[in-house]
Amino acid sequence: MNFEKSREEKTCACVLNRREKKFYAFKKSHFDIFYTVPPNIDDALTSSDVIIREGDNVTLRCKAKGSPEPSIKWKRDDGLKIVISKTMEVTEVEGDILELERISRLHMGAYLCIATNGVPPSVSKRIKVSVDFSPMVWIPHQLVGVPMFFNVTLECFIEANPTSLNYWTRENDHMITDSYKYNDFAEETLRKKFRAKKIMYIKKVQLMLLVAAWPYLITGQTHGQDVNKQQIENILHDLNANIQPCQSFFDYSCSNWKQRHQSDYYKDITGLVELKMNKVLAEFMETQPAKAGLKSYYESCKKAGTIEMEKYLQIVRPGKDLEWPILEELRNPNLIWPKENFQLLETLAILQNYGFNNVLMNVEIRWEDNKKVSITLQAPEKTETIDKNSHLKSLAILKLLGVNTARISSYMQQITSIDKSLQEVVTNAANSNDAVIPLTLDDLKQSYPLLNWDIFFKTRLEERPENLELKILLKNWEYFQKLPDHLKNQDKELLCNYLMIKFLKFLLQDMPKGHEKLDCVQDLRKKFSIAMNYVYQQTLLPRSLAENYKKDIFKIFTKIQKTFLKYLNENRLNLSTTQVEFLISKLMNTTLLLPSIASTDFMDNYYKSLPQFESNNYAFNHVAYLKQHSSKRYIIQELLFNQQDPILSSSSIPYYHRSSNQIILPHGYLQLPIYDVNLHALYKYSILGFILSHELMHAFDSIGITYHSNGLQHLTGYSILQHKGYSATLDCIHQQHVTASVNERLADLLGVRIAYDAYFSENSLEKLLPGTNLPEKRVFFLNLSQFFCSKMNINYPEHDDDKMRLHDILKNFEEFVETFQCSQNDKMHPKEKCRMW
Ligand SMILES: [Zn+2]
Repeated sequence: MNFEKSREEKTCACVLNRREKKFYAFKKSHFDIFYTVPPNIDDALTSSDVIIREGDNVTLRCKAKGSPEPSIKWKRDDGLKIVISKTMEVTEVEGDILELERISRLHMGAYLCIATNGVPPSVSKRIKVSVDFSPMVWIPHQLVGVPMFFNVTLECFIEANPTSLNYWTRENDHMITDSYKYNDFAEETLRKKFRAKKIMYIKKVQLMLLVAAWPYLITGQTHGQDVNKQQIENILHDLNANIQPCQSFFDYSCSNWKQRHQSDYYKDITGLVELKMNKVLAEFMETQPAKAGLKSYYESCKKAGTIEMEKYLQIVRPGKDLEWPILEELRNPNLIWPKENFQLLETLAILQNYGFNNVLMNVEIRWEDNKKVSITLQAPEKTETIDKNSHLKSLAILKLLGVNTARISSYMQQITSIDKSLQEVVTNAANSNDAVIPLTLDDLKQSYPLLNWDIFFKTRLEERPENLELKILLKNWEYFQKLPDHLKNQDKELLCNYLMIKFLKFLLQDMPKGHEKLDCVQDLRKKFSIAMNYVYQQTLLPRSLAENYKKDIFKIFTKIQKTFLKYLNENRLNLSTTQVEFLISKLMNTTLLLPSIASTDFMDNYYKSLPQFESNNYAFNHVAYLKQHSSKRYIIQELLFNQQDPILSSSSIPYYHRSSNQIILPHGYLQLPIYDVNLHALYKYSILGFILSHELMHAFDSIGITYHSNGLQHLTGYSILQHKGYSATLDCIHQQHVTASVNERLADLLGVRIAYDAYFSENSLEKLLPGTNLPEKRVFFLNLSQFFCSKMNINYPEHDDDKMRLHDILKNFEEFVETFQCSQNDKMHPKEKCRMW
């Protein structure tokens, strides 16, 4: 049945509409005025779908019949407004005619002409207006940088009517067809029909694409800032495309590092910055007028050929009227060594005055002023066992002295047996109460009468002990009780030989590694770090730059402190208020120490205080240096470096100094590729920021946490150490890897998290590195990795090599996993992650 027809019949039969009846009675005289007819659109007189070119005019018509006569209005089918002119848009237009002038693609769409005359139902007709225009293409990102072997989505938007045929090509104009490389070759059509979003999904970006893309990418805005350009070029150079970052990030990001540094003798970035500094300083020592003392020391180092053991022994003797027995025997085999003149504790004190320590006992002396001195006595710490070459070194020393092979083996037996028995005494006494006991000198003499304390202190302090105010702290009392009994049975000559060999070994490890320029500069840096830092600052760093980077670095450090403060306030470990307050107070009192430029006066005094060095006698100079360095007169008010640790102070490695709660950042690290004031902040945070955070975390590691900011141990600190959340994290780290130092891993893990948060809390995660199209997030990890890149490729399962360190850091950091889209089965994405704080 025809629905329209039946409806009309029905309408004809329906009741009249009183109100409209009169009105229509005049107009439609031929028709029965009492009948009403709903509207009906006359297709013949109404426009149908039109296609026009952009810019033309179009007129749409609509005619409708009905009784009463219908009125017509126009609307857009999609609910959008009708564009009448540039400034006028309306929801509907009344009248049979809709004029659209200067058609644009905005006019495109379906229009409805709706006819109404008060008699339901209204009717409408849908007229489609199509606007033809040539294809227009735009892309949101013109250049997309992708590390090799990463997935990428290239987006391209196309506007065209009629629908265009869309395809992708490479530079060679060949159409890319669906293949293993490019899949999901899908076309997405947006809401507006004529807009196609073309998406190409490339699973693996080929080297070609990158090589073609990178040089272009990293020019542009980096222009004029060569350091930033160089940094990104190096990072990209070191990448190895054949390795998946989620399988081994170290191999992915560091593979070509070796090649870039092939001819250099250092093994990593730390070695690199050390060498840079040594080269600059060697240049200075060779060409500039260095202070006389330094110059002589440097010259004597270069001239010293072989290790002159005998010379050392002639300068440092075991007693006033005593020679070393081995030396005396070599000179005159018939002479009998005067045993009775030998005083063990006197010889020990003489040697200790050259910095020798930790043999027979460990003695720390701190002068509070000219009269007050505090002395800590304890059993030697086990260090010899760590040195695997200890035996070989003893052999070499005897050989260098000219001892014949037969005697060497008997000496070696004797030394080994003393070492062994002393070790036993230490081990047996180790179970005793380790508490520190405060004693007076009289107490000490009474408690251990078999040891000649008078001669020991007189020699060691170079003053009569009764004229001084001694504060003695004794640890390991049981050891001191057993020691004299043990020594009593030993032959004096044997003990003297024993001390001599130990002393020569101590000297050996304090000698330069060689006698080339760079070896000698390294030696100077170790022994005269204050002077060498001064020289470095004066010759290499313009004062304004030094001031500039000081500001910059303190800004970074403050940001790092704030970031850690945020963690502490979040209190993930659920610590008590007292504990959190303890941590915050310690954090806020941790300071960063940059080597500051010492005053000229200070340096003048420093140079004046140096011993008279001779330019052709290294042994003499070395001994003179040691003597001065260990004496009470060697007082430096401004401790630029930790004097107790000559190995650390000779290098550029930053470290945390527990008793002063300071992080010391030497100059060496403030060089490229670690730092430059003009580097982009992202680079600064990802290496230097990481390093500073790492050092800061040593203030809160399992040792550091037990100390308060004043350098003293604190009970609250201990209570945090015993807190189950704290120890659980330490366990977690230990379970991941049997490591030599859980604290190093802890500092690493937190170091990267803090540095990352410190940077990205102020920078959008989605940002691209300026001048490149690389996401900053990725560059953060790639640059961090540069710090760990190394030539050593050997994997020591139990040692904490660079690769293991980097991987442990990243494996435990969700942000890394997310950034590189690692999946659960990947090596870099273990299920369990360790997190402290
Ligand atoms: Zn560390």
